[in-house]
Amino acid sequence: MINCCQFIKLEHLDKLLPVYADLLNQLGEQGVDWVQMDEPILSLDLDGQWQQAFERAYNGLQQTPPQIIVANYFDTLGNNCHIACNLPVSGIHIDITRSSQPKQYVTQVIDHLPSHKLLSIGVVDGLSVWTTDQARVQDILTEANERLNTYHNQPKTGDGKDNQRLWVGTGSSLLHLPVDLTSEDVPENLKGKLAFAKQKLSEVVICAKLATGELQPDVTATDISLSPTQSDAQVRDGVFSDRYAKQEAKLNLPLLPTTTIGSFPQTAEIRKARRQWNNGELSDSDYQDAMKAEIRQCVTDQEELGLDVLVHGEAERTDMVEYFAQYLDGFWLAKNGWVQSYGTRCVRPPIVVGDISRPKAMTVDWISYAQSLTNKPMKGMLTGPVTMLNWSFAPSDAATRDILRLQIAEAINQEVSDLQDAGIGIIQIDEPAFREGLPLKQAEHASYWKQAVDSFKHSASSAQPETQIHTHMCYSSFHDCLHHISAMDADVITIETARSGLQLLDAFKVDGNIDGADGSTNTERGYQNAIGPGVYDIHSPRAPDSDAMQIVIDEAQKYIPIERLWINPDCGLKTRNWEEVRQQLRNMVEMTHIVRKKYVA
Ligand code: GLN
Ligand code: ZN
Repeated sequence: MINCCQFIKLEHLDKLLPVYADLLNQLGEQGVDWVQMDEPILSLDLDGQWQQAFERAYNGLQQTPPQIIVANYFDTLGNNCHIACNLPVSGIHIDITRSSQPKQYVTQVIDHLPSHKLLSIGVVDGLSVWTTDQARVQDILTEANERLNTYHNQPKTGDGKDNQRLWVGTGSSLLHLPVDLTSEDVPENLKGKLAFAKQKLSEVVICAKLATGELQPDVTATDISLSPTQSDAQVRDGVFSDRYAKQEAKLNLPLLPTTTIGSFPQTAEIRKARRQWNNGELSDSDYQDAMKAEIRQCVTDQEELGLDVLVHGEAERTDMVEYFAQYLDGFWLAKNGWVQSYGTRCVRPPIVVGDISRPKAMTVDWISYAQSLTNKPMKGMLTGPVTMLNWSFAPSDAATRDILRLQIAEAINQEVSDLQDAGIGIIQIDEPAFREGLPLKQAEHASYWKQAVDSFKHSASSAQPETQIHTHMCYSSFHDCLHHISAMDADVITIETARSGLQLLDAFKVDGNIDGADGSTNTERGYQNAIGPGVYDIHSPRAPDSDAMQIVIDEAQKYIPIERLWINPDCGLKTRNWEEVRQQLRNMVEMTHIVRKKYVA
């Protein structure tokens, strides 16, 4: 399926090229000398068709006036090194910050690069908030400079022009970094070790001077050091069918239980209370009272709407990752460390600064308070280890990430245990970024999936069979990883389907490697655990009508027995207002009553 889509995409290339040629011409006419063409796709394992497409595309563009530099980043060129180096352009940019052997990588590229082309080396990491290791960079750039000039066969002029084949830059753009560190209250042990976008720009200038010998290194490697001991990942007791039977007996829910994904509107009042609390205008206890009032209203509303499994609404959380990072040791939060998440929305990704652990319970008071207000089951709400790590600033090497993910999993595991002890019978561990962290190179996929699944399972492993574990996923296409989602073995997964179309449900009927990469035919065992396919798209303010929502359930029950289906929106409701939310959920509950009659009869 993926191959077929890619094939269709490539068919459009020839229509696109004249548009690019025209654009480049216009830029040339305006006096633009250089144009950077971003090609991060060169970091993927491209098949022959795509590699040929690169040659076709740039052959077609080479007549145009501005000089072109093709920029690759986020990983190494891998198997595309030869293709990239031999494109008919004036130079290429590579990102060495993602390479485990940057020196060898640079040598490999220079060996492939025709001697008339320039090389731009990205030495300053555009995805990390740590300073650059100047000695290491100097070593790499000095050698690169020598090699480039040897191959260039030109006598050294001594006036600085001998290094004109070498450019120095950031690995990738600085879009993903916070802007400036200078206004931050950096803790003593981190002073001099961090760099945000502005500081990275200064680093680029320094690195260029290191390459020419104009400057000598004065900043050494800064990174986090972790305790070497790593505990093993645990798994829960029991198989799904036994667990689910026990949970059903305990929870006593109707057919097609209704629930939501966790958050309710983050109203202006909530944000105001938090602002006042942060500014010291509201005491801790006044702030807690304000949040409790929100929780109370949220619970009352859900009861009135007739939902079956309630949530506390996440009023106290600015963001699902930041909230937990505030409580966990090993994270540091920059006050103004905002980066764009999507559109006009911004988040402050926490920075991993050491071993991660949980000094105390993080959610138990809020969730227990919410549970005390109702006889219906309250679903505890946690963010999973894969998402926590993926939406933080953390080292990029897989081995360190594996350790950190498991440390976070252990913290979540302890929280699950505390929630359970406090009488919470359903706990959701959100993993919207479960697929997003997948490495770009195929060779690293298997290990990533194993570690991601193992860490999720470890986080849930303190749950007794009677405690129901939910997870939630969205924002990605999950067609190619359903067997890994199965392996997570959550009792219930609520998953975005309303927006991504219903094909996802179709994919749930097969179990195994559904992308067929190994050419095998799949066993039609199907997804074994329970699913809540999102019945409406929360990104729209419109209230979904009953018919549109019923289609999702009608479709889902073809593949998943009705006893294992749940009904819910496709994501959290924090971006909507209360009026919209009430109307949408009223329609959802009404639809559920209709569908229950239809399938029970
Ligand atoms: N529980 C979170 C919420 O409802 C999940 C958010 C998400 O999926 N990104 O806001
Ligand atoms: Zn979501």
